[in-house]
Amino acid sequence: MFRRAADALLDLVLPPRCPSCREIVVEDRRFCSACWQQLSFLTDPCCAICGLPFDVEMAAAAQCGACADTPPPYRRARAAFRYEGAVVPVLLGFKHAARTHLALLMAEQMLRLMPATEADQLLVPIPLDTRRLRQRGYNQAGLLALALARLSGIPMALSAMQRVKPTHSTAGLGRAARFRAAKGAFRADRTRVEGRRVVLVDDVMTTGATVNSAAAILVRSGAASVDVVTFARALPTDRKEFITAAE
Ligand SMILES: [Zn+2]
Ligand SMILES: [Zn+2]
Repeated sequence: MFRRAADALLDLVLPPRCPSCREIVVEDRRFCSACWQQLSFLTDPCCAICGLPFDVEMAAAAQCGACADTPPPYRRARAAFRYEGAVVPVLLGFKHAARTHLALLMAEQMLRLMPATEADQLLVPIPLDTRRLRQRGYNQAGLLALALARLSGIPMALSAMQRVKPTHSTAGLGRAARFRAAKGAFRADRTRVEGRRVVLVDDVMTTGATVNSAAAILVRSGAASVDVVTFARALPTDRKEFITAAE
């Protein structure tokens, strides 16, 4: 009861706001209706492996050209939203403006993408390099993994991976160059990931270079499988907006 009273009091002081446009809304962690209508939920049809949306209806097991050419080291990657419209301010605020309270709302949207319950599941966030972590003060993927751990009950290993190559800006680089830049970027702690079914967590996926590199090292370190869950997915046509968010 005390908690409810405290919540009510807080609502008076800080009314809930739309996470995208910051308009006052009735309920906490809800988009306003204008922003809600602008959200592009990523659903089927999509590539069975990387989740790339298809324009036309395809067989459930259909893969995109890139995945058919070079199968990724992960089983399946899924993102809640396309990185455009009302999603952009949410991601930028979360990542660059310390609006860390958005983690819970974002994780709630990611929860439906989680792989089915299996034994030995482990949530692992994509790590930042130390310099970037010191600058930002938090790892946005770590906050999402923490919120997902709370919502799903799956344990999280915050430091099961380290980034050994600093994150340089890859904005403006082509797909092949991004894959080269991400190669060897991570190290995984075998004692933590061996035999585990890892759910790799990140805020946004673009070409997939980062999650590919991270998943490859997890598999090499003995992970039984890797699935990827992100809040947003930037498609080639969203590239202009992505340039800012990638940093
Ligand atoms: Zn709004
Ligand atoms: Zn694909």
